[in-house]
Amino acid sequence: MKKLADIGLIGLAVMGENLVLNMESKGFTVAVFNRTVSKVDEFINGRAKGKNIIGTHSLEELVASLSRPRKVMLMVKAGQPVDDFIEKLIPLLEPGDIIIDGGNSYFMDTRRRTKYVESKGLLYIGTGVSGGEEGALRGPSMMPGGSPAAWPHVKEIFQAVAAKVDDGTPCCDWVGEDGAGHFVKMVHNGIEYGDMQIINEAYHLMKELLRLTPDEQHEVFKKWNTGKLNSYLIEITADILAFKDSDGTPLVEKILDTAGQKGTGKWTVITALELGIPLTLIGESVFSRCLSAQKDLRVKASKAISGTKPHFKGDKQQFINDLEEALYAAKIISYAQGYDLMREAAKEYNWNLNYGGIALMWRGGCIIRSAFLGDIKKAFDKNPSLENLLLDPFFKNAVQSAQESWRSVCSAALENGIPIPALSSALCYFDGFRCERLPANLLQAQRDYFGAHQYERIDKPRGEFFHTNWTGHG
Ligand code: NAP
Repeated sequence: MKKLADIGLIGLAVMGENLVLNMESKGFTVAVFNRTVSKVDEFINGRAKGKNIIGTHSLEELVASLSRPRKVMLMVKAGQPVDDFIEKLIPLLEPGDIIIDGGNSYFMDTRRRTKYVESKGLLYIGTGVSGGEEGALRGPSMMPGGSPAAWPHVKEIFQAVAAKVDDGTPCCDWVGEDGAGHFVKMVHNGIEYGDMQIINEAYHLMKELLRLTPDEQHEVFKKWNTGKLNSYLIEITADILAFKDSDGTPLVEKILDTAGQKGTGKWTVITALELGIPLTLIGESVFSRCLSAQKDLRVKASKAISGTKPHFKGDKQQFINDLEEALYAAKIISYAQGYDLMREAAKEYNWNLNYGGIALMWRGGCIIRSAFLGDIKKAFDKNPSLENLLLDPFFKNAVQSAQESWRSVCSAALENGIPIPALSSALCYFDGFRCERLPANLLQAQRDYFGAHQYERIDKPRGEFFHTNWTGHG
């Protein structure tokens, strides 16, 4: 009898193919299918030749080639194609079989699909897969959520293909119910936006204020990568700054300054607004990309509006040291805000999230991998119900000691007219967070003045509301 496959995968584009090859290399037999069926044969006769990969030419054939409970993973374009495949698979599967969506699906879709698929007697997993095509092939970070009963059946495969940290721990563990996996992947993408933005602001300051060449900046980033900022994004930034075009000049300076985005950062910020969480650093990072995209308008404005020109006074090396501290502090704020969002979402959607485990899943295989995530894991190991990362002693001390440097970087940038939306908004959040009394008393008075929205008083119990006739008119 023909050997049945351990798992089936639909969607032979770059991510799907690489994930199949990764699974096969770990000893699993994989059956594959693709909407454009000719791609199945191309794959089987090309990259999959001689491997334990079974090509199938219909969904019926795919399902028939799988061992029970059947596991069918979709790596197709997010959105309607996922719903279409679910609809086609349901009549072909049996109770207890598992549909897995490994694409970049919106977590609310995953919540809906989990409920729907479970109502048909099947199990569902929506898993974040991070690390791009290289990650899919060599070991991604994987963040699965959905039907808890499905996890024991896919755990072995997922943890085998996932990236591993130094001690061999896989960057994949169960995240939580329904859309929790895709939610955590979305927050990961938002944090990626934030990490990239603060690095870009540091680059801008070194370039425009310190007048460092890309080669000099390369040295700074290379050095930073050996310290507390050690991370994949700092490492690749160092590489990018050293890279020369065919004429021997730095390629980075020839790249048009308009940033693209696929939407996951935007989703993170919209979700934060919906849940009422101040996710300011990531918000500014998304808006910075939007401002960068208004290139023609900026060119016009740069000619029409005059303003402060950068002029550095001071010690360059000291500024670079301060900048390292500022980046570190802002990064702590970004993760504090991201974790705040996850905590609120867990409350709203009834997820039991393992916050330390999430940090561990991000430690390898994905774009935001960094040494720093080990410290976050330690903070949640020490106190699993930590309310905010800034209240953990390690991070509190780290931000406190970086504070002065961070402020002097922000002051210099503001004085010299260099935009630092992420570094400065993170500092404002920090100052707001540690502020016992904010000016919202005045705001409440204003709301009551124009809209009779009422206010609470500090000298009366919470929950007792007052209204004042501010104008004295009847
Ligand atoms: P993709 O370009 O997002 O999708 C291509 C696959 O989807 C092909 O198999 C294609 O089939 C299928 N497809 C497209 N429209 C379809 C439709 N209307 N009905 C049925 N099938 C349809 O491929 P990808 O870049 O490999 O990404 C796969 C998933 O992983 C996506 O959700 C993506 O967001 C996510 N992801 C991608 C990356 C990355 O770096 N690329 C990283 C992480 C996650 P045909 O061959 O027939 O067109």
